[in-house]
Amino acid sequence: MRTLAETCEAIAATTKKLRKTALVADYLKSCMIDEAAISAVFLSGKAFPAWEETTLQVGGALLSRVVADLSAKDEAALTAAYRKHGDLGAVAGELLPEKSGQGLGVLEVGKVFREIAATRGPAAKSALVRDLLARATPLEAKYIVKIMTGDLRIGLKESLVEEAIAQAYSGGRAGSLKDVQRANMLLGDIGETLRLAVGGKLTEAKMRLFHPFGFMLASPIESPEEGLSYFSDAAVEDKYDGIRAQAHVAGGEVKFFSRTRDEITESFPELPDALRGLREDAILDGEIAAWEQPGRARPFSVLQQRLGRKKVSDRMLREVPVAYLVFDVLYAGGELMIDRPLRERARILDELLAGENLYHGVHGGTRGKAGSQGKLTFETEPELSAARIVRAPVFRAASPEELEELFAAAQARGNEGLMIKDLESSYSPGKRGKAWLKMKRELATLDVVVTAVEYGHGKRVGVLSDYTFAVWDTDTNKDRLVNIGKAYSGLTDVEIAEMTKWFLDHTIEDQGFRRTVEPKIVLEVAFNNMMLSDRHDSGYALRFPRIVRLRPDKTAEEADTIERVREIYERQDH
Ligand code: AMP
Repeated sequence: MRTLAETCEAIAATTKKLRKTALVADYLKSCMIDEAAISAVFLSGKAFPAWEETTLQVGGALLSRVVADLSAKDEAALTAAYRKHGDLGAVAGELLPEKSGQGLGVLEVGKVFREIAATRGPAAKSALVRDLLARATPLEAKYIVKIMTGDLRIGLKESLVEEAIAQAYSGGRAGSLKDVQRANMLLGDIGETLRLAVGGKLTEAKMRLFHPFGFMLASPIESPEEGLSYFSDAAVEDKYDGIRAQAHVAGGEVKFFSRTRDEITESFPELPDALRGLREDAILDGEIAAWEQPGRARPFSVLQQRLGRKKVSDRMLREVPVAYLVFDVLYAGGELMIDRPLRERARILDELLAGENLYHGVHGGTRGKAGSQGKLTFETEPELSAARIVRAPVFRAASPEELEELFAAAQARGNEGLMIKDLESSYSPGKRGKAWLKMKRELATLDVVVTAVEYGHGKRVGVLSDYTFAVWDTDTNKDRLVNIGKAYSGLTDVEIAEMTKWFLDHTIEDQGFRRTVEPKIVLEVAFNNMMLSDRHDSGYALRFPRIVRLRPDKTAEEADTIERVREIYERQDH
């Protein structure tokens, strides 16, 4: 672990990507394979491989208590160190005492992480974390804590670890990086990918059913013209306001995974049955939405009642029925589909969902009927009342006017807007590109991370209802969050109560009226205007910011960047 920690220090000290990759490659080559495999996971800022559902369940509050305890420092010293570094790992590195006999192996750290994950209750977890950090040198502890909080903050992304693996084991052979990326995407395990690279077996990586992989993401557009500017043949779908879900179906078993790759099957017990009738093993991509008869999605706030439940009551099933609106197929009948163009995947999906036990299309086929001048009719059929699995209808638009009409029609159906997709594009897991575009109601919303919270006023006096939020500063290659605004309206009382509890449990520093909190909660915020301002460290401020909704489906890493802020700023009328 010492060499790994020293390598991390060296990586943090340079902003040059090539240098970072070379440092990782050299380090990996110096290790035994088992050690290199676990290190690759740690260097990606994770305690466990991405596909695994194992989590440490150790919050910042527990970690800072252990650090305070081991360092025998008082609250003031801890707060001062935290102010200086803004990172609990660095605080541990500075405050923990050096003792003889300290030092841990990477394999040992991996083993203890598994023990911590398997242990229930904060007291037992605390004891394991305490023992682990006591046995580590201060520098090792710094990086152990960083891995535990899920963020190394050394300007190293998993994509750079992939590059390092290609460099270390394939000697820079042409195409080796692509092979590494593909294997990692299929396996969702950078350590396993490394093992294959060592054995020269990268191309043997196989899709593993029930191991979710990354979702293809969309880029926002600001006008209908922009929506048709990147490619010539566009498929247009409604943008449903629900949660993204990847369905794995094989041998009569069905599982749903969220965007954060967590299994969410239990929250939607009615959906697996509907998919069991599929005639081939498959992986599907779609959106789960609250569903109203006949054939209309309900707002996200309705679906929210169904999220995060382990047990769903019959009443809930009746009152908030859901549907799985399927728009893509990633694997079917033993074959990976992601390299095929959307045009082909759409056809295969039509055929797959044409099975007898499934509802196959909202309006007699998947093409919306375009009337004269691209006017669309969206018919509903009585049989839809039983639908749980629905092939998301696909429309076509050849002009900005047609796109506007589709947009208005989608909104009239209660949907958020449109998705515009390049029919020639392959499926790129985990990538946000211009092959999928999204056109939303609020032309400018930002997904932001909450960094600090305050108690409210009036009827919100006892709850944490004022949120300071931030975007990623990608400019300096430092992966840090910079604040951009503060908002206190938009959430329901129930949501605020839940958030208050979460923030109290995940406070990093209690300053009395204000608390800095673990940067994990993502909000979607709308605003009227954006200004240059030195009020916040991003250099921008928002006019009339309001919270559109919580985004529990997004991880902090998926929040917006300063680059997007700048884009919006430059595009608006000043
Ligand atoms: P956003 O969450 O605003 O970044 O928008 C992208 C999300 O829209 C995706 O991750 C999906 O959850 C959702 N979505 C809704 N309808 C569709 C659709 N037809 N195709 C792709 N994504 C969709």
